[in-house]
Amino acid sequence: MTASSARRLVLMGPPGAGKGTQASRLAEHLGVPAISTGDIFRANVAERTELGQQAQRYMDAGEYVPDEVTNAMVADRLAADDATAGFLLDGYPRTEAQVGELDRMLEAAGVSLDVVVELTADVDELVKRLLGRAAEQGRSDDTESVIRRRLEVYSEQTAALVDVYDARGILVRVDGLGSVDDVAARLLDALS
Ligand code: ADP
Repeated sequence: MTASSARRLVLMGPPGAGKGTQASRLAEHLGVPAISTGDIFRANVAERTELGQQAQRYMDAGEYVPDEVTNAMVADRLAADDATAGFLLDGYPRTEAQVGELDRMLEAAGVSLDVVVELTADVDELVKRLLGRAAEQGRSDDTESVIRRRLEVYSEQTAALVDVYDARGILVRVDGLGSVDDVAARLLDALS
């Protein structure tokens, strides 16, 4: 699998690992849309849609939005024309049920994942980055107690999911420490 032939990708990693930044760069490089469930939820909250109203209280508490809500949203997004030839999912799947649901969606479309990338970073660095971002962007879920809860939820519900993909032989681990450019280069390297 080379970077230029990977078309259906998932980027996993704890809050603060730099998924969003790297996802947009990598997706642009590969010519596929970056699909961030967090961004879609935030846009819906900002626009006060019904989906936004359903999601907001979970996000503000650092909890996951219920699977039914998230799965339906992703199914919708993946059915759009621009995602039929490929996509880079950022922030999905995050629960075992979401892994199963993504499998079903892709199977129904007759396609499958090419690669799952796990961006790693240690907890102290994650908290430091998230608190820094809180100061800059004022995201409502970037307060210290909510950050700690998001990290906890990640380790309880999501961290182990990489093993599922590892067992399928499609997992690649990339060190998320360092500058944005360094990590981006490492990512491309890992995919080639
Ligand atoms: P981070 O990974 O930095 O916590 P995201 O922008 O990826 O931030 O997600 C923000 C919030 O959006 C999450 O804390 C959660 O409430 C919600 N969310 C995003 N993706 C999912 C998902 N796949 N399942 C459930 N909730 C999600």
